Amino acid sequence: MTSNRTLNTTCAYCGVGCGIQAQVLDAATRQTRIAGDPTHPANFGRLCSKGAALADTLTLQGRLLHPEVNGETVSWDAALDLVATTLSATLREHGPESVAFYLSGQLLTEDYYVANKLMKGFLGSANVDTNSRLCMSSSVAGHKRAFGADIVPGCYEDLELADLIILTGSNTAWCHPVVYQRIKAAKQQRPQMKVVVIDPRRTATCDIADLHLPLQPGTDAWLFNGLLAYLARLGALDYEYLEQHTEGFGRAIKAARAEDTADIVAVARHCGLKEGEVAAFYDWFRRTPKTVTAYSQGVNQSSSGSDKVNAIINCHLATGRIGKPGMGPFSLTGQPNAMGGREVGGLANQLAAHMDFTPDNVERVGRFWNAARMASQPGLKAVDLFDAVADGRIKAIWIMGTNPVVSMPDADKVAQALSRCDKVIVSDCIRRTDTTEYANILLPALGWGEKDGTVTNSERRISRQRAFLPAPGEAKADWWIVSAVAQRMGFGAAFNYRNSRDIFIEHAALSGFENTPEQTERVFDISALETLTDAAYDALEPIQWPVNAATPQGAARLFEDGGYLNLNHKALLLPITPQPPQGKRDERMPFALNTGRIRDQWHTMTRTALAPQLNAHLCEPYCAIHPHDAQRLGVAQNDLVRLRSHYGALIARADLTDEQQPGQLFVPMHWTAQFSAAGRVGALVNPVTDPHSGQPESKHTPVTLERFEAAWHGFIFSREELNLEGAPYWTKIRGARFYRYEIAGVASVADWSQWARALLSPSDQSEGEWLEYQDSASGKYRSACFAGDRLTACLFIGPTPDLPERSWLASLFDLEALTHNDRLGLLAGVPRSDAAHAGRTICACFGVGENTLRQAIRDQGLQTVEAIGQCLNAGTNCGSCIPELQKLL
Ligand code: SF4
Repeated sequence: MTSNRTLNTTCAYCGVGCGIQAQVLDAATRQTRIAGDPTHPANFGRLCSKGAALADTLTLQGRLLHPEVNGETVSWDAALDLVATTLSATLREHGPESVAFYLSGQLLTEDYYVANKLMKGFLGSANVDTNSRLCMSSSVAGHKRAFGADIVPGCYEDLELADLIILTGSNTAWCHPVVYQRIKAAKQQRPQMKVVVIDPRRTATCDIADLHLPLQPGTDAWLFNGLLAYLARLGALDYEYLEQHTEGFGRAIKAARAEDTADIVAVARHCGLKEGEVAAFYDWFRRTPKTVTAYSQGVNQSSSGSDKVNAIINCHLATGRIGKPGMGPFSLTGQPNAMGGREVGGLANQLAAHMDFTPDNVERVGRFWNAARMASQPGLKAVDLFDAVADGRIKAIWIMGTNPVVSMPDADKVAQALSRCDKVIVSDCIRRTDTTEYANILLPALGWGEKDGTVTNSERRISRQRAFLPAPGEAKADWWIVSAVAQRMGFGAAFNYRNSRDIFIEHAALSGFENTPEQTERVFDISALETLTDAAYDALEPIQWPVNAATPQGAARLFEDGGYLNLNHKALLLPITPQPPQGKRDERMPFALNTGRIRDQWHTMTRTALAPQLNAHLCEPYCAIHPHDAQRLGVAQNDLVRLRSHYGALIARADLTDEQQPGQLFVPMHWTAQFSAAGRVGALVNPVTDPHSGQPESKHTPVTLERFEAAWHGFIFSREELNLEGAPYWTKIRGARFYRYEIAGVASVADWSQWARALLSPSDQSEGEWLEYQDSASGKYRSACFAGDRLTACLFIGPTPDLPERSWLASLFDLEALTHNDRLGLLAGVPRSDAAHAGRTICACFGVGENTLRQAIRDQGLQTVEAIGQCLNAGTNCGSCIPELQKLL
């Protein structure tokens, strides 16, 4: 494990599931070389900026390394005994529905399996849900309704073989960058391939779009119902496939022919699109057999997300475009192991191994597990689960590897619920998160690079995540922690695992257990892997399920010849009646708030914010606003704005852009209370959910927007972490040798010099040397603090956000001694020499800034992304920045 041989593993982040080669260079310092695995079928060596920066996230800074009870370090025995007695006592006094687990798409399949087994087979409750509920549960519901099982029929290769790719509700360029790169490369090879992007925002993904349909939020089902009606009108359906392999077409087409989707004019009106755009899209779809429709959170995160999924699937079933090379609906999964979680039954409405809660299945799984107390009905889905914590029905909750105080809708209510619950157990690898703040018992878990098991990506491909670093401190695998608690609760025989392989083969065996047409037929069947030895499990190559006697090498595609999992083996087309978002905008709440991911951060930043290069691209929570709206409200670029919904409020930096439609706002989902004073967008998101999937409507919350009237604005660079509590606005990012804070205040400061000294004086109490500049009349104050010639901190304050560009100042922290010229320019914030400052980082891999790029484009006449690459390297590694390079050109 600690030699410098290269191990193949899988990326920690998104559902693309890229293969990675990790080579430990120095085990003591955890220095590791990361590269894309050229043999992995998901990425063939490519990585995006996040994957490429994984080596910089392996630090032990901020890690949770020992068990804690009420803030005190305790032994594992003491912590595990307490968890076991807490759960046992709660069950005894209040029954099985009083306990809950909340899991994560970041867990490995083996961790997920054991947690699900303990709760559903031995504690007697199905109150085990996961953050995947927030991500793709509408796709699960759509798949189950149409196919009879939660199955993605195709594979990534289809995106390269297709002649038409429809990306709907997916900023693929930022959220699934390697899939985007694969599509882009295929389009370069076959320029006749067409790409349609359906998204209210003009995102980076539109860089490769032949057609962008900026529809009104939540109107996708109108668009796809209209498509079905159009195809039927022109006789462009596959009636043979419909006849042989589907049912429900009559009711589906009747619904699609409703007045508001009957023709292109009606569809265009409802979706806020131009008729010509809709006509072009429909025409391309009609003429192009090889079509893939890939969709993601923009479709799923809706109060009618399941219906949107089925409206898409209806069009593919009706044209027979499913399960064949280059064809099919394709759910792009957000998280690295959302699919693995679905396999084991990690959602509260699933039992295990793609079985639900029919009495037969409950008996079957109970027999397989030799279960002490089987749950017999679905448990509470995420929003309901935390509501039950809030009203006291759930009295003990165990949260594993996720941060619901940030990511849940109505997130302040979740925080309040946990603060009132006195039995909050949290397993995590990070000590300080918004959720660990509420934990009574903290259990240190292994992180990426230390844990060992499997994950399944969006195309059903199971890959190994392998440990290449030793376990730090007392951290343990999640499966070990859960099993140790189960043993203490008296279930030792069922949780007697030696390693993750023991769990995997049990999971594989359950997938094949009584899996016959006569008993309970499931496509999720990996029973051919149930005999893997330790060595074979170690060596397991990526493989797409099903992996059984019929397809021992796995299967790339399913359903080409039908064989659906509904009772009559036919797929079901659903009659869809489109529904608008539930939260209605009105005069009091005139904006629709959309949330989503940014290019270089992942989820709640616990890992990505450790990598300085990933913090340099977008370093503050921002609110994208159309310039007309901004002008009406007196908001200028870089002003601070305050957003309020019925649930909460946030403050963010205004970004004026016509990529956003009037009346709509976009705020990233990542910022937490650890990185900002008021940047948690989950606090605003309405908790309304889809009735079938329970997925929250995170893409549409009515909000107000106003300029945040700050008395002063500022920024700080400091080699030491600072405490800015009390400031109404601050955000923090980590650079290579500094922390950078953006700050603003509403109360004037009488003595800036004193304020700066109180905040920035070095912790070693040495005096330090200070440079200061103050212009009281204009409200400007600037200072810098030195230890010898080494800059330790600097602070810039002004009456507006118009302050010096930060990149040159950041670069001064790389120096052990400042030159005379550097000192001269320091308080002006610009170099005295001719040295240009790079500007905001665009290319994270090579640290190339916006100013550098603009200058090179201008001075050297660069006209293509390739020319920029040759000149500055930008865009030549992971390619995540290419859409932005394109924009600069
Ligand atoms: Fe990781 Fe990026 Fe690949 Fe996603 S696309 S798995 S984040 S390298």
